[in-house]
Amino acid sequence: MDDSVDDSGTGGDKVAVACSFCGKDHTRVAKLVAGPGVYICDACIALCQIYIDHPDEDGKLLIEDGRAVLRDGAPVFVPLTAEERAARDALKAS
Ligand SMILES: [Zn+2]
Repeated sequence: MDDSVDDSGTGGDKVAVACSFCGKDHTRVAKLVAGPGVYICDACIALCQIYIDHPDEDGKLLIEDGRAVLRDGAPVFVPLTAEERAARDALKAS
């Protein structure tokens, strides 16, 4: 009697996981950290760490190819647009 299960082509229980912030799936990042219903990749964590390390910067990180642009070893912050500033202020007010 053959009791093996052939689940080829059914997708099985595999779930494609991807960073909830940048959208890259687990095959395109070095590390993917899981939270309750969310994931974050190593590159997004690095960007968050830059914001944490520079709490007084009033702007957004200049990012190219998913990485912060550095000038003389320091991350580059660029001014927010009027629309981005309004969205940020709305978040602060809530
Ligand atoms: Zn990410």
